[in-house]
Amino acid sequence: MALTETAPAATPSSHEGILRRQSLRESAARTYARSLPIVPVRARGLTIEGADGRRYLDCLSGAGTLALGHNHPVVLEAIRAVLDSGAPLHTLDLATPVKDDFTTELFATLPRELAENGRIQFCGPAGTDAVEAAFTLVRTATGREGLMAFSGAYHGMTEGALAASGGARTTAVTRLPYPSDYRCPFRTGGERGAELAARWTESLLDDQKSGVPRPAGMILEPVQGEGGVIPAPDSWLRRMRDVTAARGIPLIVDEVQTGVGRTGTFWAMEHSGIVPDVLVLSKAIGGSLPLAVIVYRAELDTWQPGAHAGTFRGNQLAMAAGRATLVHVRENGLDRRAGELGARMLARLTQLAAAHDCIGDVRGRGLMLGVELVDRDADADATGARPADPTLAVAVQNACLDRGLIVELGGRQSAVVRLLPPLTITDEQADAILDRLTDAIAAAVRTTPAPTGTSPTTMRGTSR
Ligand code: PMP
Repeated sequence: MALTETAPAATPSSHEGILRRQSLRESAARTYARSLPIVPVRARGLTIEGADGRRYLDCLSGAGTLALGHNHPVVLEAIRAVLDSGAPLHTLDLATPVKDDFTTELFATLPRELAENGRIQFCGPAGTDAVEAAFTLVRTATGREGLMAFSGAYHGMTEGALAASGGARTTAVTRLPYPSDYRCPFRTGGERGAELAARWTESLLDDQKSGVPRPAGMILEPVQGEGGVIPAPDSWLRRMRDVTAARGIPLIVDEVQTGVGRTGTFWAMEHSGIVPDVLVLSKAIGGSLPLAVIVYRAELDTWQPGAHAGTFRGNQLAMAAGRATLVHVRENGLDRRAGELGARMLARLTQLAAAHDCIGDVRGRGLMLGVELVDRDADADATGARPADPTLAVAVQNACLDRGLIVELGGRQSAVVRLLPPLTITDEQADAILDRLTDAIAAAVRTTPAPTGTSPTTMRGTSR
C-alpha cells in the first residue's frame, strides 16, 4: 500500500496547533524543532511533506542517518517482512536469525583485519551508548583511565561521550589539536598544520613530564561532522594510527556519522586505509531506526559479562532495516556515487564561495558538505580566517526553509551550513538543492547586515 494512502490528513490548522502544543509541552532543550518549524506527515526519499501541505528537500536526513532517504522501499520491505514473520520484536541481546543476518552483512563490509578478528557488542540504541561502550572496553583492556580526544569533536551527550566532545565542561579528557585547513590552530593549515598537530600529540605522549598519563584510548572522527564538516587529512589519520599502535593505545574511530557510504567509501577510514582497534557505529546502520554497535579487535575482549548491558540492544526492526540499507548501498555502489556527486557539488559550492565574501570556506567529503559563513567586513582573526557569522547562518537556514530546503547548522559557532542529503539523490535533485541554497544565501546577505560592517550587500561578484 502506498504511504500516501495511510498518512494522516494534513491541514494548516493541525500544523499550527501541533507546533503550538509542542512549544507549550516540550522541553526547553529541544533543538531541531526550534529552527525547523515543520510538522512532517509524509516523506519519501529526499522529500518531506509538512502538515501545512508544503514540501521540503531534506538535507538534514535525520542528522545524517538516512543513507537511503526517507522510507526507501527496501527498508520498508525489510521491516514488513519481520512484522509479518511473527518474530519477537524485543529480544534483549539474544541470538536471532535477523541479528545473525545483520552481523554477517556488517562484517562483510569491514576491512578484512577487523572482520576476521573482530567482536561485536550490541549497545543501547544511540551513538552515544556505543561511545560509552568503547570507553569501558578500552579502560578494562588497558587498565588505564584517561582518554584522548580532539578539539571540535562530537561524540554524544552521555557523560563520558560529552567529556570527549568539544563542548566538554570537564578536563578529564586530554584535548588534542585536530587539523583544520581553514581555522588551523597553528595558522598554517594543510599538511604542515596536520604535521604540527601530530607532533604535539606525540610530545604529550612521550614527554614524561607532560602531565598526561598514558591514556586508555584515543577517539577521533575521520571527518568532524557536528564540529563543522572538517575532513582530517589521510596522512594525519595514518599518523594517529601509527602513534597509537607504537604506544599500545587503542584507537577508537567514531564513524557514527561518516559510515555507510556517506564520504565516498563505505567507511570513511577506507580513504586513509587505517584499521582502528575499536569502531563505533550508529545512525545509518539502523536504516532509520535506532541501532548502535561497536566492533573491535578480539584481543580487547577482556570485559566481563554485563560490563556494558542495556534493555534495548535487540531492535529486530532496526537490524532488518539496517541490513537492507547496508546491502543496498553495497550492491548499488552508493558510496562511489556519494564520492562523485559530492565532488561535483563541492565544485559548485567553491564557485559560489568565489562570488560571496560571506562564504569563508566550503569543504567536505562525499555527501557531507559544509559552507562556513563569516563576517564579510572583518579582518582575519588569530586563526587566519575571518570570524564566523552565526547570525547570517541562521538567516541562510531560514531563507532555505522559505525555499523548501532543510539544512542543518554546525561548527564551533553554528556558522557552518551543513548538507547531508541521502546517497540516493539524482543529479537533478543535487542541482535543485544547490539552486535553492544559492538563492537563500543571496537573500540572507541582502537582509542581514555584517556584524562589524555597514553594508549588507558586500559581494565579490554576482550570485545567481
Ligand atoms: N558520534 C558522532 C560522530 C555523531 O555525529 C553523533 C551524533 N551526531 C554521535 C556520536 C552521538 O550519536 P547519538 O546522537 O545517536 O547519541
